[in-house]
Amino acid sequence: LMAVLEHEQDLPSRTPDGHDMPLMVNTGLAVDTVASLKSRIGGVGLYRTEVPFMITERFPGEQEQTRLYRDQLESFAPLPVVMRTLDIGGDKDLPYFPIEEANPFLGWRGIRVTLDHPEVLMVQLRAMLRASQGLDNLQVLLPMVTNVDEVDDALRLLDRAIVELGEEGVAVNRPKVGVMLEVPATLYQLDALAKRVDFFSVGSNDLTQYLLAVDRNNPRVADLYDACHPAVLAAMARLGEETRRLAMPTSVCGEMAGDPAGALLLMGMGFNALSMNAPSLPRVRAAIRRVSLASARELVEETLRLDSPHDVRQHLEARLGEWQ
Ligand code: PEP
Ligand code: MG
Repeated sequence: LMAVLEHEQDLPSRTPDGHDMPLMVNTGLAVDTVASLKSRIGGVGLYRTEVPFMITERFPGEQEQTRLYRDQLESFAPLPVVMRTLDIGGDKDLPYFPIEEANPFLGWRGIRVTLDHPEVLMVQLRAMLRASQGLDNLQVLLPMVTNVDEVDDALRLLDRAIVELGEEGVAVNRPKVGVMLEVPATLYQLDALAKRVDFFSVGSNDLTQYLLAVDRNNPRVADLYDACHPAVLAAMARLGEETRRLAMPTSVCGEMAGDPAGALLLMGMGFNALSMNAPSLPRVRAAIRRVSLASARELVEETLRLDSPHDVRQHLEARLGEWQ
């Protein structure tokens, strides 16, 4: 679609009308390749901690986790690194912690698992806090939140971890804490959630799956899984508006943020940052550098008037074609 120019990759992700759209990366395994992008990004918008857990033979201990997290935090400091607590269940199983369920995506997933196993969450939080000593760029993100009690419980464990470490002579600052908006219920709990945490991160992958009732990994219904569905776009637009009203810093870390058309829509909707896999950065940056914020807002308005995913796709393709 749009031309991507290599020299452009060192230029800011700024629109022609001067709007800065921070781009961040999603990480999981080794940091070395991604860390070289440090000068081109705003930080790590999503570090999926379950990824390193998948290649070990048992739950990594506190020391091992501290090393892993320190590596991430040091490689990107002083840029923020958003570390998500363990998000297993659904499609992500650990070989040493199998979960057998009829409906795994509606079952024991993310924070539901770690709150039932506070000893697992405590080790992880302690390791994150220890790793952040002297760096101050750690942010903690809670996955699969459905109600505020889960947030309160997790915050209590975080406070306990800070007190414990203090008693052991390890002084740590309290990191910023955020909630993933990916269960549709959270869309109707924004005020209550905003009172409790410092930021939001929209998981558009799961939000799409749950809004449309379409398993994101089932090839039989893959055609129905579509972030261009008017209902998904309406939900995202509403989230953009509401989180601005609440003045809550809100980023998007699902695949939608790494797609040039998706990124332009999200910018037009008013999100504060886009986090994506590193290979998506060049095309998204190119799109942002070619399309004004005003045009992106128009694109949102036009798109929200369309009735079907097919019409949305066609319209986005036509408009992106004009802008290249
Ligand atoms: C999401 O759900 O959009 C997300 C970013 O998290 P994951 O893909 O790891 O579920
Ligand atoms: Mg998710």
